[in-house]
Amino acid sequence: MAASKLDPIISSYAKAHSKAYKQIYKAIERYDKIVVFRHLKPDYDAMGSQMGMVTFLKDNFPEKEIHFVGDNHVTFTPRVFPETENLSEDWFKANKFLAIIMDVGDADRIADPRFKHAAYKVKIDHHPCKKEVARASLCDLEMAAAAELAANLMLNWKGKTLSKEAAYYLYIGIVGDSGRFLFSSTSTHTFAIAQALLATGIELPPLYQRMYEKNVDSLRSLAYVLNHFTVSPKGVAYYCLPKAIQDELHITPEQGKEHVNTFSNIAGINVWCSVTEDPNPKDYCWRISIRSKGMDISGVAMKWEGGGHKQASGAKIKSLDDLPEFIADLDALFA
Ligand code: AMP
Repeated sequence: MAASKLDPIISSYAKAHSKAYKQIYKAIERYDKIVVFRHLKPDYDAMGSQMGMVTFLKDNFPEKEIHFVGDNHVTFTPRVFPETENLSEDWFKANKFLAIIMDVGDADRIADPRFKHAAYKVKIDHHPCKKEVARASLCDLEMAAAAELAANLMLNWKGKTLSKEAAYYLYIGIVGDSGRFLFSSTSTHTFAIAQALLATGIELPPLYQRMYEKNVDSLRSLAYVLNHFTVSPKGVAYYCLPKAIQDELHITPEQGKEHVNTFSNIAGINVWCSVTEDPNPKDYCWRISIRSKGMDISGVAMKWEGGGHKQASGAKIKSLDDLPEFIADLDALFA
């Protein structure tokens, strides 16, 4: 799409961030080898922004070597996104490469620690970050999705094209992280970008079908959640999925959290959480996904080994013994 035809909302954003844009464009042009990273336990935006970037780079720089790494998703891979590459240790040691880090800022949340070997690092993100790892950073906490920011960067790059395939991935990232354009992070910019992506010809019904298709196990686990949730005195709803129950329901911890938004439109429920046991011996914990109607829950998430956005954050507790205190912290927001 030619930059001249862009919605002024899209082009004026690029103008306001021209320094970071130029740094990123230059870095991409300079390196022949590029690896695109995303965050651990990826969601639609992590994968959509990563694959949107990978596709954009492959389309516009066919002579460059482009790679993408990170842990796969238990249901979105390969239904929505391709499997990541198994790039060897030797490759990382032997090559001078650019790292593009999508949808994550904190080093310990980047899905493959080998980003550290990069000759230069670029970040495109919308999360608060404790310590900057990138030399060139485009980070905007107001963006509904990292894919929204990445799409702006791509659409404004003169002479480059944003293909239907790249747009497909970016659109999924935006729909995922904006909660289908429902969250308060959705702005006129979000819709302007969505419109520009749709203009590439992507078809919505098959896209949504891929994103939201469920199976019978998922339906059974939803039934379990609806029969076992608790609501605290201040309207914090939560459900727990111990490993034994996950096994009975044939689901993983990641699939267990997928029901969290069942509670999003219920009168009297202000915050809602999934609490899923993760038996991974390297980091045994109960993972908590927290969502809120309006209250900023990111501070509580940070206190409990996590972080994220005002209305969508993640946290961890070591044992269910900590759960009452965690819920009390959320309740205290409404005191
Ligand atoms: P989740 O509940 O895992 O879907 O996470 C919700 C949002 O919070 C996503 O944008 C995550 O990237 C972010 N998030 C989750 N866990 C953490 C963490 N430990 N530190 C920082 N951000 C997180």
